[in-house]
Amino acid sequence: LSKETQDMLSAHEWLTKLYHHLLRFTKEGKEGYAYLKDRGIDEKAADIFQLGFSPIADHLTVEFLKKKGFHEQLLVKAGLLQMNEAGNTSDRFRGRIIFPIRNHLGKTVAFGGRAVGDYKPKYINSPESELFHKGKLLYNFDLAKRYIRKENEVVLLEGQMDVIAAYQAGVHNAVATLGTALTEFQAKLLKRYVNNVIICYDGDRAGLDAAYKAAVILRQCGCEVRVAYLQANMDPDSFIRMHGGQAFNDEVIKASDTFMTFYMRFLKKDYQLNLEADRIQYVEKVLKQIATIDSSIEREYYLKELSNEFEISMEALMDEISGYREMFA
Ligand code: ATP
Ligand code: MN
Ligand code: MN
Ligand code: MN
Repeated sequence: LSKETQDMLSAHEWLTKLYHHLLRFTKEGKEGYAYLKDRGIDEKAADIFQLGFSPIADHLTVEFLKKKGFHEQLLVKAGLLQMNEAGNTSDRFRGRIIFPIRNHLGKTVAFGGRAVGDYKPKYINSPESELFHKGKLLYNFDLAKRYIRKENEVVLLEGQMDVIAAYQAGVHNAVATLGTALTEFQAKLLKRYVNNVIICYDGDRAGLDAAYKAAVILRQCGCEVRVAYLQANMDPDSFIRMHGGQAFNDEVIKASDTFMTFYMRFLKKDYQLNLEADRIQYVEKVLKQIATIDSSIEREYYLKELSNEFEISMEALMDEISGYREMFA
């Protein structure tokens, strides 16, 4: 590592400690502490995830780090300060809850900052830097990886709050993409540790679409994918808050759908299934996907589902699918 990179890491480490201390033990952090408490985050989780608070002050960060010997220029480059057109710097995360974003070695390489309450933007992340490439890192991977290995399963979530709520619910093998699309790099990283991925994104339209895209990438990388179902107005954090950790484990994670079942439901959005032409197109599209399944038992299972739902004989479906399978062979 270059001297500059080391200094950047060290600045992140100092700030992680500062913001965490302010949140946990000071008057300045009370607002942040109360907010987290209100959202059901306990002290243990706040400590494990090193959550912090950046007070409403323009120059607290720079003054603290200058005293530790860091140059302002370096802090700008590391994304810790923002600079206006006149060249003046100020705290990037002022007035926000701080989520340190750690790399796979457990070193903080960026921060996420959440507004306390309804201010916009809701989240601010550190900009990309030589330390932080959003598409190459998964939030909480460093802590989760031994559980991921042990269980040969990872739970993929959208946000920091989801990971922390899941952790409190006893789901320790969860990581998050921090609101951006899963990259091939991230999928390959996961594949090195596990075969089984359970995607549990937000239940809204955006979450569903992102879950489908992530599933496709993960399957291309050789992962076995399941998708957990949440109602449209829910994400893992809000589900756990409303129904508890046990229900999250039993009714969401354990009850997650196979990719095929998810796909059959997901695809319906593109068709008006009360129209005959659409019904036929939908069935053909699903058949093509079923044809790619290696196990004949599994294939038959999904064909039965289709047969029942669309009142088409198994014979006709089998006939059609054997054509597709010959095409792929
Ligand atoms: P909360 O429960 O605190 O509202 P969330 O995780 O449910 O947060 P979402 O809107 O579902 O928030 O977004 C998922 C993730 O995307 C967030 O955790 C955050 O990492 C990221 N994100 C959300 N909004 C923004 C934003 N405006 N800028 C950058 N990243 C964002
Ligand atoms: Mn979302
Ligand atoms: Mn969400
Ligand atoms: Mn949420």
